[in-house]
Amino acid sequence: MSEPDADTLDPTSLRTPIVAVLGHVDHGKTSLLDKIRGSAVIEGEAGAITQHIGATAVPLDVISTIAGDLVDPDDFDLPGLLFIDTPGHHSFTTLRSRGGALADIAILVVDVNDGFQPQTLEALDILKRSQTPFIVAANKIDTVPGWNANEDSPINATYDAQSDRVTGRLDESLYEIIGNLSDEGFSADLYWRVQNFQRNVGVVPVSAMTGEGVPDLLAVMMGLSQRYMKAEMEIDVAGPGVGTVLEVKEEKGFGTTIDTVLYDGTVRADDEIVIGGQNDPIVTEVRALLQPRPLAEIRTESRFEKVEEVSAAAGIKVAAPDLEDAMAGAPVRVVRDRDLEEVVREVEAELADIAVD
Ligand code: GDP
Repeated sequence: MSEPDADTLDPTSLRTPIVAVLGHVDHGKTSLLDKIRGSAVIEGEAGAITQHIGATAVPLDVISTIAGDLVDPDDFDLPGLLFIDTPGHHSFTTLRSRGGALADIAILVVDVNDGFQPQTLEALDILKRSQTPFIVAANKIDTVPGWNANEDSPINATYDAQSDRVTGRLDESLYEIIGNLSDEGFSADLYWRVQNFQRNVGVVPVSAMTGEGVPDLLAVMMGLSQRYMKAEMEIDVAGPGVGTVLEVKEEKGFGTTIDTVLYDGTVRADDEIVIGGQNDPIVTEVRALLQPRPLAEIRTESRFEKVEEVSAAAGIKVAAPDLEDAMAGAPVRVVRDRDLEEVVREVEAELADIAVD
């Protein structure tokens, strides 16, 4: 994340894929993220999970600990997964306005009892238009009447521990979801039957409450990223940073700030940056780069700590003058040794794309 000396970095490296969690309200997006974070804490790996602004980074070794036999870290060279946090209405619309480019990959959460709902369809529409690869988390399997919970178990083991009546009921709900996906033009199946995740959508039965199926979910996300996205994850880490504004926020002591997801390069505390604004692109200089302070260190001072630089993929709060007109969903680009006019034109072009959406 924050490297003291960027010049010693390998210029090319693989970044963390950015994961968005979408779905209808109350279908369990927040609970699922909490479960993943919580499982890592229970496994004694809490130190390895890093809380970013607007995102949570889960490194490969933590994923491997949670997923057990399903993830052998030697099979992967991507560093982990960066989950965009609390996908409330705000980041949902931001993702839409950005045409989905913010996330490399997505989890669509669908409540097995409730099935497809308006925001499920809305999310599918965004994923379709942005061609974002995704899997479906068929959540709340523990609420199937008669369910016998096996905390944090992979799905096949807990399936085997259920009565035929219970698995029959669950299968019915799962096939209804698969049918709904088909109605929307997606060929889908239970994830263990999917051979080609580029062609078919994998459905993973999970419970954000009991953690059942969470090992499978992480294994599938990791596998999908590694198999189909590795080339896109190769970035020039030390190059000028590129990101998307998640939220524009007033912050005591810092004025207007932008919570940003950085998906390429590095942003430094003295960089000149160009941001998409309500009218014209905003050209300004970073005043401070802010990360959440670890909980243990919060006393009376600021919730944030200043860092000198941040590299993709990461969530970061940027404090700078003249951010009042910045827009959620807008691009952010570091100028550094590039031609300012060229960077401004790039931001204008990206803004025009958003307007078309
Ligand atoms: P969001 O609006 O999609 O973020 O949904 P939440 O994560 O806030 O969950 C909505 C409600 O469903 C909360 O009361 C959760 O406790 C509950 N919930 C979420 N996932 C599960 C699950 O897997 N099983 C059960 N039984 N309840 C769940």
